[in-house]
Amino acid sequence: MPDPAGSPLAARDGGLVWHPYAPLDGPLPYAVEGAAGVRLTLTAPDGERLEAVDAMASWWCAVHGYRNPVLDAAAHEQLDRFSHVMFGGLTHEPAVRLAERLTAIAPGPMAHVFFADSGSVSVEVALKLCLQYQAARGRPRRQRFLTVRGGYHGDTFAAMSVCDPVDGMHSAFPGALARQVFAPRPPAARLVATPIGENRWECDELALQAWEAEVRSLADAHTDELAAVVVEPVLQGAGGMHVYHPRCLQVLREVADDHGLLLVVDEIATGFGRTGRLFASEWAEVSPDVVCVGKALTGGYLSLAAVLATRRVGEAITRSEFRALLHGPTFMANPLACAVANASVELVESSWKDDVGRVARVLTEHLSPAARLRSVADVRTLGAVGVVQLTSPVDVARVTAAALRRGVWVRPFRDLVYTMPPYACSDDDVRLVAQGIVGAVAEVHG
Ligand code: PMP
Repeated sequence: MPDPAGSPLAARDGGLVWHPYAPLDGPLPYAVEGAAGVRLTLTAPDGERLEAVDAMASWWCAVHGYRNPVLDAAAHEQLDRFSHVMFGGLTHEPAVRLAERLTAIAPGPMAHVFFADSGSVSVEVALKLCLQYQAARGRPRRQRFLTVRGGYHGDTFAAMSVCDPVDGMHSAFPGALARQVFAPRPPAARLVATPIGENRWECDELALQAWEAEVRSLADAHTDELAAVVVEPVLQGAGGMHVYHPRCLQVLREVADDHGLLLVVDEIATGFGRTGRLFASEWAEVSPDVVCVGKALTGGYLSLAAVLATRRVGEAITRSEFRALLHGPTFMANPLACAVANASVELVESSWKDDVGRVARVLTEHLSPAARLRSVADVRTLGAVGVVQLTSPVDVARVTAAALRRGVWVRPFRDLVYTMPPYACSDDDVRLVAQGIVGAVAEVHG
């Protein structure tokens, strides 16, 4: 029975605490009473208690679920040693082990690791790294970035500047963001299973050629100003859950090489198996110069991200005027976060292929009925990512409530109702998620 007084916690929160991109007088939040396995126990603002599979994996990071015994043990063990020490002049085993592990599994021959405290900060560090690299090579005027429309790379200033200039936050901060060079969004593509059990990428070939020509001519026009190409590989996440052809990433690699640019891939959302490859860059067999990882790095337990770079990049920085990469946050390489990350990455390595393959199959099968709905423009899946795109903006509050009634927590945005569920979901959990999304969309939007 709903508590007629409503959720006391939500009432205390309302107007006091800012939530992501939400006004202080916006709808009250759901209160989390507990989280275990892949389920959240929630109290709705009206006091109703609900249990739901977290189809968001806490914004794509809780891949092993909540209160995972392996991650819990790693956290407790490190807590009993020490939870934090500064990283200036000191080191510790969890950080070194994690750096060894990340360089071993990275897409391409990465030789150096910088630990940052969030995804956005890792993007800042990667961008600084590119400017320092160009300056070290005698090209200090190369200070802009070539990217594509539709991207999302975080909320700090330099990261915002490479987000989509229309749907990102450029209009809120006119004049305050660095002006980057934007190529069109890479044309949509789809990974389809062939009858012989192989996967094939499908895309409008003419659109692909036109995009390639445009990217090459932009790079030609701006060579002397550009430091690097920055891009989310194959899947643009918060910019629209847009899947594009790996060939586009190959083109960007070629463009970077032709113009003396570094290629930075933002694998913060796509890394650690999410798209059906350990890193999405692998779909294109492209070897980047710089890689950002975050989110699933700690299985969603703690905030940690990392910037990986090749030996060539590291050598240039070491030979530069400053000799160091000019960044050093207080909580750099937090030992607790690194210890959990080691456990999380180890778990990913041992099970991501089976888990993501399984989640992908169940999602594909049970989201497909959404394609028959009047309100639905497109249904797509890639790895453990499932997207239902509507023909108009989602009624977020009503779809969220309708999905919750079906036992599923989603957080739609724009015209998208999507899921990136924990890999730890059983087949039944994934089916519940897919059917919950289809049912909620049908109920609210028809
Ligand atoms: N890059 C990408 C691709 C992301 O999806 C995100 C977060 N959604 C970020 C960067 C920013 O990461 P954080 O929120 O940890 O700062």
